[in-house]
Amino acid sequence: MKTQDGGVVVTGAGGFIGGHLVAALVRAGHRNVRAVDRKPLERWYQVYDGVDNRVADLTRRETCFDVCDGAATVYQLAADMGGMGFIETHKAECMLSVLINTHMLLAARDMGVQRFFFSSSACVYNAERQSDPDVTALREADAYPAEPEDGYGWEKLFSERMCRHFREDFGLETRIARYHNVYGPLGTWMGGREKAPAAICRKVIEAKLSGEHHIEIWGTGEQTRSFMYIDDCLEGTQRIAASDVTEPLNLGSSELVSINGLVSIVEEIAGVQLERFYAPDAPCGVAGRNSDNDLIREHFDWEPSTSLRDGLEKTYKWIHDEYMKRWGGRLGPREAAPKR
Ligand code: NAD
Repeated sequence: MKTQDGGVVVTGAGGFIGGHLVAALVRAGHRNVRAVDRKPLERWYQVYDGVDNRVADLTRRETCFDVCDGAATVYQLAADMGGMGFIETHKAECMLSVLINTHMLLAARDMGVQRFFFSSSACVYNAERQSDPDVTALREADAYPAEPEDGYGWEKLFSERMCRHFREDFGLETRIARYHNVYGPLGTWMGGREKAPAAICRKVIEAKLSGEHHIEIWGTGEQTRSFMYIDDCLEGTQRIAASDVTEPLNLGSSELVSINGLVSIVEEIAGVQLERFYAPDAPCGVAGRNSDNDLIREHFDWEPSTSLRDGLEKTYKWIHDEYMKRWGGRLGPREAAPKR
């Protein structure tokens, strides 16, 4: 049964962005929210009473049909993913997310879902356009000719394309955001799937605790990126999902920073200065990447605007508190860079 506000399904709800999206929907008064993730409930970052929380594996076709039953809107955020350390060493696993996207699209089509939002990624962009740290920001058209990040990026680009053809051929209203590096509290900060902002916050905390004032940086540190704070991601996601913009849109900050610059900001927040060592062979992705926000501004007169400094301050504090909870103020085991 669909209720007045329509059933809203969030997949990947035990993860970082999905957990925040469920929280935002609950805050906005949605009473018919279904949250789905394959992780056991105790490992979800956020769990809310009054939400239909389901632990289920969305690579399975029949599960996707159960999950879409009664849903008007689907936010498809489930994917096997992580930072560069994960996606460069788990390409096949990343590509298997195509099972989730295929089955979720089929289920949405056949169960009468009205809106299907897909979380794509800046990893769909052509690598040739990202070979210089001094970047020209990526425009949406730069995804073609296709030469995306191997594994993870190919899966995202293919699934974007499926969304497009399900809309054109079957009338399913699909909407697509290309997220550029999202960070914030209540996300992965250890274990090998964390992304650069969380990893750097953790390493700085470890350096402070150990008294060994040095830090290992993956790559040359000169590679550039932009990082979007979670609140901007949530607002943009909901704007894109509700809009009539059918083409993929960049959803990212345009505040470009080098990884060295990112470390400097975290050092400043933590009140330390560390000696830097570089791991040139560690996974570090393309040389430079930024989000061109002309299109999103044109459509919504809006773009992500939280400053990196403000967002990192909140993120550092949360990771610091988690670290203290987990290791009781002592130094936990440190993680090595994955082998290639
Ligand atoms: P996350 O890893 O925190 O969350 C993804 C969740 O999907 C996880 O909790 C995982 O358990 C779940 N999942 C994986 N396989 C599943 C399956 N078979 N069935 C059910 N659940 C499954 O990642 P996130 O940062 O919250 O990212 C959400 C989405 O946004 C992903 O699709 C990701 O590719 C995309 N994205 C994220 C970023 C970013 O910077 N965080 C950037 C670009 C795109």
